[in-house]
Amino acid sequence: MKVYLDNSATTKVDEAVFEKMKPYFCEIYGNANSLHSFGRAADKAVAEARQKLANAIGAKKNEVYFTSGGTESDNWAIRGAAYRNLKKGNHIISSKIEHAAVIQLLRGLEKSGFEVTYIDVDKDGIIDLEQLKKAITPKTMLISIMAANNEIGTLQPIREIAQIANEYKVYFHTDAVQAFGNIEIDVKDLGVDFMSLSAHKIYGPKGVGALYIKSGVVIDKQLVGGHQERTMRGGTSNVPGIVGFGFAAEEAANNLSIRTGKIRNLRDYFVDRVFKEIPDIIYNGHKTKRLSGNANFSFKGIEGESILQRLDLNGIAVSTGSACSSGSLEPSHVLLAIGVPIEHAHGSIRFSFGKYNTREEADYTIEKLKAVVKSLRDLSPLYVQLEGDMKNV
Ligand code: PLP
Repeated sequence: MKVYLDNSATTKVDEAVFEKMKPYFCEIYGNANSLHSFGRAADKAVAEARQKLANAIGAKKNEVYFTSGGTESDNWAIRGAAYRNLKKGNHIISSKIEHAAVIQLLRGLEKSGFEVTYIDVDKDGIIDLEQLKKAITPKTMLISIMAANNEIGTLQPIREIAQIANEYKVYFHTDAVQAFGNIEIDVKDLGVDFMSLSAHKIYGPKGVGALYIKSGVVIDKQLVGGHQERTMRGGTSNVPGIVGFGFAAEEAANNLSIRTGKIRNLRDYFVDRVFKEIPDIIYNGHKTKRLSGNANFSFKGIEGESILQRLDLNGIAVSTGSACSSGSLEPSHVLLAIGVPIEHAHGSIRFSFGKYNTREEADYTIEKLKAVVKSLRDLSPLYVQLEGDMKNV
């Protein structure tokens, strides 16, 4: 059996979305900027997709800019706002659990003279709002905090953060790459200035995303070149990708509660059984304020990579929180930020369910997981040695 439980990494393209994209490869292949009929047909499709995406997030059409994905959107929003507002100040506030697309960018900005404060999160991964308020100084011009975490699935109080940002006249960017398609999103209601989105997490194609920029807010461009995206982002439009994103976004918003309800039920069933049937585990993240498909566990006394490899041998795809850098396996910064002890952080696995997963797949995964965890623990001197102490952690 093949089981894909890595939907937070990327999703399968919905066949219906793929069908909508197909004509834009070999039939309607004009450059959306060209003035002839081929170009106009492509441009019309891009405009329709922009409207669909705008509808899905409660934005106006001219507030949506297509990009190459969540990474570019994050980079554009943060760097673009940072440099545009240098006169106001050089201070940015973010959190300790952001995606690499934000954290790496911020580290780079720090080297260029910006100051960044990384706010703590509690044991469930929720941002400390008091600390956030206190961190704001007259030099603060941007807050960037993700709507949902990619590893532990925790949802942040975006509306409250936006209120604080508004009160102090600071711009607010949120990375909603994981949240979009999982929770109701209305940019006006939330009160954000910038929002990053990506198609491949919502059953759309890879390599296409969007940045919402509230009308009236001006930021620097990142990709300069042609006059695409109303002169804000150069580069020939990825027409098939944009078309796919439009349909995927429409579908994501239309069937949100039915789809996420089904996914949540399956995830909860899985989590309940894992808890009952596998000892010495930690469930990372908030119990309820989390993405419907996310389940993140630390399996005490064993390595996440070994679990991943053995599940993979059984046809099951999951992911670990560790990032393999320069030959050493570093535990996830997110798990460390929520206080998971380093030895347990190493034994963490993210299972991310999506709309194509079934009860049979969950059952199969639990059976294989039980066997894998047991056999690794039987071989693990760490587990035997620490067993007594670890049970209390
Ligand atoms: N932000 C978050 C929270 C993500 O989970 C991801 C992808 O994993 C990204 C940004 C990057 O998005 P993309 O892969 O579209 O560049």
